[in-house]
Formats: sequence, C-alpha cells, structure tokens
Amino acid sequence: MPGGKMVPYPVENHVYMLDGDTQRSFIRDMFALQADDDRVPANFEDFLIHRFGETLYESYFRPYNEKVWRRSLKNVPMDWLEGKLPMPTVEEMIYNNFNHVEEKQFVHSTFWYEREGGSQFIADRLAEGLDIRYSTEVSEIAFLPHGRSVVNGEEYDAVIFCGNVKHLPGMLGSDGLSPFKAQIDALEYHGTTTVLCRMEKNPYSWIYQPDRSHLSHRIICTGNFSDTNNAPSEFTATVEFTDFMKKEDILENLKSVPFHPEYITHHYSEYTYPIQDSGTRELVRSLKNTLREKRFFLTGRFAEWEYYNMDAAMGAAMDLCRELIREGI
Ligand SMILES: Cc1cc2nc3c(=O)[nH]c(=O)nc-3n(C[C@H](O)[C@H](O)[C@H](O)COP(=O)(O)OP(=O)(O)OC[C@H]3O[C@@H](n4cnc5c(N)ncnc54)[C@H](O)[C@@H]3O)c2cc1C
Repeated sequence: MPGGKMVPYPVENHVYMLDGDTQRSFIRDMFALQADDDRVPANFEDFLIHRFGETLYESYFRPYNEKVWRRSLKNVPMDWLEGKLPMPTVEEMIYNNFNHVEEKQFVHSTFWYEREGGSQFIADRLAEGLDIRYSTEVSEIAFLPHGRSVVNGEEYDAVIFCGNVKHLPGMLGSDGLSPFKAQIDALEYHGTTTVLCRMEKNPYSWIYQPDRSHLSHRIICTGNFSDTNNAPSEFTATVEFTDFMKKEDILENLKSVPFHPEYITHHYSEYTYPIQDSGTRELVRSLKNTLREKRFFLTGRFAEWEYYNMDAAMGAAMDLCRELIREGI
C-alpha cells in the first residue's frame, strides 16, 4: 500500500490500519455508497468505485488491477469477472473494521498444501493406475462416424479435451469448426512472466502489490507453503508480471519489489488469463453443443475460456464426469 505499508487481505476489512486521513476519506465514501445502493455497474471501474469507494479504488483496486489487466478498468466488462468478485455491503465493511474481523470465506484464508512435491503430488496421486502419456503433444484430432474420434492416430469412444480451445481448429484440420473459427481466433487472453527469486524470509503467503513503482502485481511466497519448496537454507518465492517481460526489465523491476528478491530464473507462459467478452459464454456453449454430438467434451480454464481458479476447474471437471457417467458414456 502507499508508503510500503503491509495490510492484510482483504484491504476493505483493514482500513483501520491505514493513516487517519485515509480512514476519514473511506468513512465519507461509505456514507456516499449507502445513498447509492441500487446502482448496476457499467464496467469493472464502476463496480469497484461503487462497492468500495474512491479512496480504496485509487489506493489499491485501481493500481493493482491495472497491473493485472494492463488496460483501463473502464474497458473491463463485468462479464469477465462474473461470480468472482467480493460483494461486501457497506454495513459489513464498517462492522469488519470496527471489530477487526479476519475474513474466513476467501479461498486464500485457509488451505492445505503438499509437504513434498508441491501441487504435482496431487496430479501424481490422481494419475495412479491410469494410462497417462506424459510429454506427448496432441496435434491431430479427427472425427469418425458414431461419435468416435482419432487422436494422434489412436481411436477413442469419447474425448474430453482439457487443452486450449484456440488450438482445436488447427488440430481438427479439415474437420475443423469453420463456423466458429473467427470467433475462437478473436478470443483474448493474457500471459504471465513468473520469476523464481531468493527472498528475505517473511510470514506471508500471497502478497498483492498495488505499488506503481514496479510492474509486478503479486508475490507467491511458495517457500512458506512447504520447506521442501526451498533449497537448503534459502527462502524462495515467485514474483509475477502480466504478459511477456524481458530479463533486463525483470531485473530492473525487482529492485523495487519488497523483501529484496534476487533473480534465479524465469518462465513466460503465453496463456494464463482467459478474457471473456459478452459473447464468449454463448460461443463456448454452442461449441460444446456441436462437439457433444461427436462425443467430444470440453472442460478446463482454456478449453471453456473461463477464468477458473484451481478449485473451480476441478469442480467443473467433476461435474462433467458425473454427467457423462449418468449418460452412460
Ligand atoms: C499465474 C497463475 C497463477 C494462478 N494462481 C492460482 C491460485 O493461486 N489459486 C488457484 O486456485 N488457481 C490459480 N491459478 C489457476 C489454476 O492454475 C487453473 O485454474 C488450473 O490450472 C486450471 O486447470 P486446467 O486443467 O483447466 O488447465 P491446466 O492446468 O492449464 O491444464 C491443461 C493441461 O493440458 C496440457 N495441454 C494443453 N494442450 C495440449 C496438447 N495439445 N497436447 C497435450 N497436452 C496439452 C497442458 O500442458 C496442461 O498440462 C493460477 C493460474 C495462473 C496461470
């Protein structure tokens, strides 16, 4: 926060920790919001200002989200974020500040983490007894009559596709989803540059960074999740930047990130945040209906172009499995 102050998550419950002027300004915002309760937000900026007030918008929500989305929040439609936004009322925010209430509903507030092997441990456990071909790129898919498909030359009764829907027309070749192709090509997304760093030991899990002096929006203190995530006698964390960053820009930005991160290595993933517009859900729905006739199903963050967190992605996959079992597929 301004002046390097660390404030627990979520910021709206911890305004009592900020300076007196900010608290007074927040209180004035709360009165104004109460008088304007029924407003339907036109875009993300409008939502944030009318849910949390100008003071928190300017000091936290705006700079943080502009780093993540790399655009004016006026140009972030509400559809992108449907179901993912906190909705505290004015009364709750005031009550939580009076009583120093710690939020227990957020996914971040309590979580289990593997002692060894990181999140790969879960994938390995789930994979036990299954025929999984690692390091094998699916590059060709063809539909056969009676709902069968050929994937990389092997025939299957049904296919559940968890990859990136943007790559599907190319994999299908001439079978290829031509009525949908232009819309699929136009789907927007962001990538992430993740930087592994040695860092000063700290007591945090995720650190959200609205600070405009650098471009990184978040530090994940992976070294605090399990000791086995660290090399002996080192504390490590990952620093995230939206989109592609050159190494020299990373090094320059790290100078302003707290806890003195020291660069070890970095990785850029092109597809990390799917971006929806008002037509995306309808597109994916029609695509799913068309593919379903071929016993070909889509599930996952980039297969469905949904901004799923891990739990939601797994929940959607479990729902699809139940549905297919019910239908005898
Ligand atoms: C930077 C970042 C930070 C995140 N932080 C959090 C967090 O703190 N908490 C949280 O809950 N969630 C977080 N998430 C979200 C979480 O990672 C996703 O919700 C989850 O991984 C989605 O699972 P999925 O199975 O849909 O996709 P993925 O995990 O992406 O799995 C898809 C798999 O398909 C494979 N694949 C794709 N194409 C092909 C092909 N042609 N051939 C073979 N294999 C292919 C990919 O290699 C990949 O292994 C974060 C995501 C990102 C990108």
